[in-house]
Amino acid sequence: MKNRTCIHCEDTFDLHSQLKQRVGGRINECPDCVVELQTEIKETIRAVSSGDGKMACIQILKFNNEDDADLYRKGWDQWSGWNNQRSGSVHDVAFTKIGENSGNGNHKGKS
Ligand SMILES: [Zn+2]
Repeated sequence: MKNRTCIHCEDTFDLHSQLKQRVGGRINECPDCVVELQTEIKETIRAVSSGDGKMACIQILKFNNEDDADLYRKGWDQWSGWNNQRSGSVHDVAFTKIGENSGNGNHKGKS
């Protein structure tokens, strides 16, 4: 555990957390800001929403390039029932899932 303070949002984050390791960015940027500000520019990061209504879920995925990201989005639309299966479902697009924000619970600022 090694806490750092983010230069963007001044939040403290764990430099050695799995999420931080995956999203990259600088050692003084929290994973949230890396994704949000896209400071890690080597690869393409996209947020993809799935499901409808109360089960809606946002997944943050990292692709090797823009083409892969677009291809995935097209496939995603056709696979509305797709869930929790990493491979063999949405074409053969390579991606890494780096975050997920599901609709059931953990909403900050909403009671
Ligand atoms: Zn931050």
